[in-house]
Amino acid sequence: MARIIDGKMISQQIKDECKEEVAVLTEQGKHICLAVVQVGADPASSIYVNNKKKACAYIGIESLAYELPEETTQEELLALVEELNEREDVNGILVQLPLPAHIDEDKVIQTISPLKDVDGFHPASVGAMCIGQPGFLSCTPAGIIQLLKRSDVEIEGKECVVIGRSNIVGKPMALLLLRENGTVTVCHSRTRNLKEVAKRADILIAAIGKPRMINHEYIKEGAVVIDVGIHRENGKMCGDVDFDDVVDHVSAITPVPGGVGPMTIAMLMRNCVESAKR
Ligand code: NDP
Repeated sequence: MARIIDGKMISQQIKDECKEEVAVLTEQGKHICLAVVQVGADPASSIYVNNKKKACAYIGIESLAYELPEETTQEELLALVEELNEREDVNGILVQLPLPAHIDEDKVIQTISPLKDVDGFHPASVGAMCIGQPGFLSCTPAGIIQLLKRSDVEIEGKECVVIGRSNIVGKPMALLLLRENGTVTVCHSRTRNLKEVAKRADILIAAIGKPRMINHEYIKEGAVVIDVGIHRENGKMCGDVDFDDVVDHVSAITPVPGGVGPMTIAMLMRNCVESAKR
């Protein structure tokens, strides 16, 4: 029987740990504040932003919401980010992605101070992670490492295959698994014999963005499977992994919903607390 890795429960543990730390920081007279900036009204982004605000309220972090119209110019957005960089009462800045097409996302990310980069997307944060120096870790991959560790899945020495090489999931995921002494292979759309490569994995991370693409043909018997994908199909959510098809072949697997998703927000909260402590 496959073990279902419960991201909801583990994310709740992390949020409770953050809440305790915030209570201590508050007693010491520290106030923690996350600025959340959304441009336009993309419905999926609005759901994510609301969930982040709710998590802040639960933990005791103030959230400052900036809901800017779709027509906001790049200059206006950069001016706001610079203002937030300067504000001493703001510990973390999050600009919800994706941004409208007329705004250069890279430029915006690079304008956020690395000291307040709680998403961990700034090149300085990524560089620090790459060479093992302190800095904010990208939330989704850091959350996956926590899921594995808190479920007693050993990473050291294991064959880890990451499918996907995006800057926000695949690449930082590979780096963090390497940091945990996994033997890491990264696959992408031009990987040859993907099924054969995936079948080497003791730990398989699917971050592809293709609904239910990974079936049992990609899975070694007894592998641990982490499904990063989030898709809505006919009102139901699913991931990049065909859960029903693989579940009898794996030793542990994350569900969608309730696996990786809640961990991303929990790690964002963790980064906000770290920012306040620094
Ligand atoms: P991207 O679209 O940025 O990257 C997808 C990656 O998958 C690319 O590297 C691409 O390769 C690769 N890929 C696409 N098709 C194939 C294929 N047929 N075979 C092998 N590789 C392929 O997506 P993200 O990394 O941003 O997100 C991935 C998924 O995770 C999405 O479903 C997204 O919604 C979800 N997500 C979930 C989060 C959470 O909190 N749970 C957070 C962030 C994302 P190439 O580089 O060659 O194009």
